[in-house]
Amino acid sequence: MQPASSPPLLNLYDLPRTALGEMLAGWGFSAFHRDALWEALYRQQVQSLDALDGVLRPDLVKLLRERACLRRPSVHHETFSSDGYTHKLLLRMDDGQTIETVLMRFKGRATVCISTQAGCAMGCVFCATGQMGLVRHLSPGEIVAQVLHVTGILRQSGESLRNIVLMGMGEPLHNYDGTMEAVDILVDQLGLAIGPRFITLSTVGVVPGIRRLADEDRPVQLAVSLHGATDAERAALVPVGKRWLLDELMEACRYYSEKRKRRIFFEWTLIAGKNDTPQQAHALGQLLQGMDAHVNVIPLNPTVGFGGTPSDPAAVRAFQDVLASYGLPSTVRQRRGIDIDAGCGQLKAAVERPRRSLPATR
Ligand code: SAH
Ligand code: SF4
Repeated sequence: MQPASSPPLLNLYDLPRTALGEMLAGWGFSAFHRDALWEALYRQQVQSLDALDGVLRPDLVKLLRERACLRRPSVHHETFSSDGYTHKLLLRMDDGQTIETVLMRFKGRATVCISTQAGCAMGCVFCATGQMGLVRHLSPGEIVAQVLHVTGILRQSGESLRNIVLMGMGEPLHNYDGTMEAVDILVDQLGLAIGPRFITLSTVGVVPGIRRLADEDRPVQLAVSLHGATDAERAALVPVGKRWLLDELMEACRYYSEKRKRRIFFEWTLIAGKNDTPQQAHALGQLLQGMDAHVNVIPLNPTVGFGGTPSDPAAVRAFQDVLASYGLPSTVRQRRGIDIDAGCGQLKAAVERPRRSLPATR
């Protein structure tokens, strides 16, 4: 038990390997000890500091016990889709906040969708997380712990994690530093060693963040959520479309493309009668023509706070055909696990609905 006056214990999962090394160097331990601790955290994936006894030097373990901790969220609620592929977790952090993490297993390629914030400030009208508002940013350790939780689950059946998508609750580029430190930890070759091409960061279009990402060359694939190809149509669904107009957003995307020489994915949630018309598909085609772009169309997952419905399959196909006429490849992304509220923010909304006295119908 910590005395009331001592500083809070440092969560080791919050530190990339360089920062961990600087801390240990200050305590008189070399990079060799840093790497031994790192491997224990991310290769062996120890669950507590007690498990470091006999692994690290006793004086280091003693200092870690006095000054640090391994903070992991607990499972507040979990559901499995009827097809067995999707496992959705509502994880609870120390301060009682809950966030969503979704594990999808498909043909031996496991993907986890993780959150970067509790809630979200961006207010997209169709999104359950946006309907909640922002509570707070997640720390790097809270982002990393979601991945550790699912690698723990996968290890039980001898599976490993392949893809990470930053498409859970929150806007990753609004929590830029926390997210990028987490990415540094996830790709570290001595630890989880997730391939940089296998991490996808999805943003609502935070222009300064996209430019910073282009300048820093972080090892992620970029996905930009558009949903509208004119400022007025986009802003009706994505309020920050008023802050960063499409001209400015597309200029940032082109800057990213040119600097990083990487394809950008664009996401488009298809809502019947709202943004699924041929005229909007043509506008999108014109907007992206000539770019190294791929469009992911996602039929709407209905949420309590938004009256829209998903586009029917014929409208989805027609939309894709128009994009193809501009030379734009596209893929339909089903939000898998709809039967378990597996849309962004939906499990939290469903579980906490009685307390938040939201309408009970969906
Ligand atoms: N904040 C980031 C990442 C989280 S949302 C972003 O907006 O990109 C990940 C993706 O899910 C976004 O493309 C978002 O528009 C989409 N999405 C959110 N709620 C949805 C819903 N109810 N139905 C379909 N797609 C949704
Ligand atoms: Fe936030 Fe993304 Fe949801 Fe928009 S879609 S409210 S940016 S989480």
